[in-house]
Amino acid sequence: MSPAVAGVIFDLDGTLTAPGAISFDRIRARIGMPTKGSILAWIAVHAADAAERARMEALVWEEERMALDRMKLGAGFASLAATLQARSPSLKTAICTRNNGEALEAFDALLQRSGYPSSAALFHVQIARSHHSSHLEREIENKPSHEPVHEIVRCWDLAHVYGPVIAHEHDTPRHGELLFVGDDLDDCLSARRAGVRSGWIRHGQRSGEHPGLARATDLRFDDLSQVAAVLSRPPGSD
Ligand SMILES: [Mg+2]
Repeated sequence: MSPAVAGVIFDLDGTLTAPGAISFDRIRARIGMPTKGSILAWIAVHAADAAERARMEALVWEEERMALDRMKLGAGFASLAATLQARSPSLKTAICTRNNGEALEAFDALLQRSGYPSSAALFHVQIARSHHSSHLEREIENKPSHEPVHEIVRCWDLAHVYGPVIAHEHDTPRHGELLFVGDDLDDCLSARRAGVRSGWIRHGQRSGEHPGLARATDLRFDDLSQVAAVLSRPPGSD
């Protein structure tokens, strides 16, 4: 039996929220990106100069802003929220997104409109794009880097228990009590590269599974109620 979860990190878009609000395909079409994968990383490599990079990034921000109005909670959110509250404060929780702070604010507003506690009450640490680490004294690299996981574990004040690991995504996770749930390969890579378990959630989407996922995924979920079922088992219950 796998170890019970002591800390859980969630991606935001398409994980805590329903997929489809942001049209990544439309963003890729608008900036002329021919492949799947990280859009911001592609822009950093392929933009001809700083002006083109700024123009492409502005298109991404525009699409993200339009998506805020379409944001909906992911399927199974009610049972996830109940489990997070039941296991609070011993279960550490976090959000890690490459979206901006505005998206986190929109998510908080959506939660409270829907009758849930504030986002900060459910998710103790929240990391968005351009997160400045006071520990590193610089901006952290975001997913698929290991850095956001290390930063979150430090913010949980658990770095003395779960010391920072830099691993290959095919290695067995050293910190099996920590779990990172996301809908994208980069979420799973970020998890595994930091030595924590990865959970891939598909929210009913059956197509487009990246071939790299199979070797970088520890758990698979159809919706958030299945994540809640895994989280509801407290540590020490094995
Ligand atoms: Mg996502």
